[in-house]
Amino acid sequence: RAKDAGRGVFRVYEPALYVQAEERRVLEIALRGALDRGEMSLAYQPIIDTQGGMLRGFEALLRWESPEFGTVPPSRFIPLAEDARIIAQIGAWVLRTACAEAASWPEGLRIAVNVSPVQLQNDGFVTTVATVLADSGLSADRLELEVTEGVFLREDRGATTTLARILDLGVRLSLDDFGIGHSSLGYLSRTRFSSIKIDGSFVRAAARGGREALAIIRAVVALAQSLDIATIAEGVETQDERQLVAALGCTHAQGDLFGRALPVTETRTLAERDWTDSAAA
Ligand code: C2E
Ligand code: MG
Ligand code: MG
Ligand code: MG
Repeated sequence: RAKDAGRGVFRVYEPALYVQAEERRVLEIALRGALDRGEMSLAYQPIIDTQGGMLRGFEALLRWESPEFGTVPPSRFIPLAEDARIIAQIGAWVLRTACAEAASWPEGLRIAVNVSPVQLQNDGFVTTVATVLADSGLSADRLELEVTEGVFLREDRGATTTLARILDLGVRLSLDDFGIGHSSLGYLSRTRFSSIKIDGSFVRAAARGGREALAIIRAVVALAQSLDIATIAEGVETQDERQLVAALGCTHAQGDLFGRALPVTETRTLAERDWTDSAAA
């Protein structure tokens, strides 16, 4: 017990830790039933190409509206779902819902779905993807799975094999949040990615004159160009940022400037909008 230790600092610290653990426990209980209670939904954020300004597709982003806790951000509940081993179930629902929706969009529009490293460790994942594609009727090349480098850190060989089986289905892969973790160029030689997503923090820093961020974006773009794959700049909020990432050679961009993540009813209107306007400087 902290009290027995006789060090005042622990007495201050322990309640905070306790509250944190208790909060997590309560949140986890709510999370377990959230899907069944219909508290989860997907929001769709447009991804556009920086040259023509045309809509390339949408990224599906999971939303949890809890009657008890309000809007809980994915950065909060995804790690909980991973720890509680319910990410596979939630992730399968995300895939099914997003692919069913995307099947009704105009041909050529892609859907990007985030996949947790924990989902990839699950033996049934590839089968889930194949089943979802068959059920939705979405052609495999319109689905892009976004994985982070965390995938490779956990169980290196297993992840690479699973990703290869996903590629065999004809599904595309995107390397998300590139540059913020333990990015290694090795991943790019072991797995065939269709795009690299540059985290919004680099875009913001570079637009503010950050030399390191600028250098990193340049290097990633050069790398992607030599591998003949796309670069998607995330978190683009201003015209300055859009112009910068276009000038740096990022092929695609995503961010509030082009559209926030929207509920499904609004994506169809977006899909039909004249996207050529968004390229105008
Ligand atoms: P991410 O995959 O990198 O998604 C991009 C995040 O940036 C989203 O946050 C999006 O709302 C936010 N964003 C987009 N444009 C802007 C902008 O202009 N400015 C700023 N400041 N932010 C912008 P969100 O929706 O909170 O998701 C956070 C993370 O949670 C995602 O990062 C992804 O890693 C994870 N996530 C979301 N949905 C899912 C899911 O269905 N499954 C899994 N496994 N992870 C998910
Ligand atoms: Mg993503
Ligand atoms: Mg990202
Ligand atoms: Mg991010």
